[in-house]
This record gives sequence, structure tokens and C-alpha cells, in this order.
Amino acid sequence: MSECLFCGIIAGKLKGEIVYGDDSVVAFRDILPRAPVHILIVPRKHIATVMDMEPSDSALVGEIFRVAAKLAQDEGIAATGFRVVVNCGRDAGQSVFHLHYHLLGGRVMGWPPG
Ligand code: AMP
Repeated sequence: MSECLFCGIIAGKLKGEIVYGDDSVVAFRDILPRAPVHILIVPRKHIATVMDMEPSDSALVGEIFRVAAKLAQDEGIAATGFRVVVNCGRDAGQSVFHLHYHLLGGRVMGWPPG
């Protein structure tokens, strides 16, 4: 997926402030942070949306949450709390079609989300 923005960041072809990487997952800071901590956690594999996940991708979800917990600890938001958000499709406002989990923290958040 050479035209995919996040594939470009993962491959190191586009600039990104990468804070974590392993064989299956990469995390980098959101370019337009919506909270003091706003990190995107993405699979290396190009998966467009939640609806495009295959059964063989299931383990990725556990890996992503493991990374979210590690980064929450590293970023100092584990004790105060944080949110992990996935937008899927038009009504949720998904704007980049490479599956990504937003890790948001460092401020009090409203509920329900807008
Ligand atoms: P979503 O709206 O859920 O698809 O989230 C896409 C996120 O990607 C938004 O929060 C954007 O601010 C973020 N974003 C867009 N371009 C970049 C980029 N080049 N580097 C880091 N984050 C980006």
C-alpha cells in the first residue's frame, strides 16, 4: 500500500515521531494532538478498518493493547487514566484508512465522546 500515509511512516519513508516498534506494531505521536498524550498505535500490516480485519489478525488486537498499557506507563498516564479509541468509517470520523488505535491521556475527558 505505497499510497498509505501510515504505511509510509511505518516504512520510514515519511516523517513520524515513532515511540515504539516491534515485529507487528508501531506507535507514533499524532501530528494534531487532542490531549497532552496522543499516540497512534498501528499494525505494520495494512488493514484499512476494523471491518477489514481477518481472523488471523486477532492476535494483533491483544498486542496493540499490551503496547497501549506499556506506553501509558511510559508516558505517566497509567495511574490517572486514559482512553483507547478506534474510529471506524464515516460516522465515526475515520480520516486515515490504516487501522489505528488512539491512546489519549493527560487530561480529564468528557463522556459521551462527540
Ligand atoms: P482518524 O480520524 O481516527 O482516522 O485518525 C487519524 C489521525 O491521524 C488523526 O488524529 C490525525 O491527526 C493523525 N494524523 C494525520 N496525519 C498524520 C501524520 N502525518 N503523522 C501523525 N499523525 C497523523
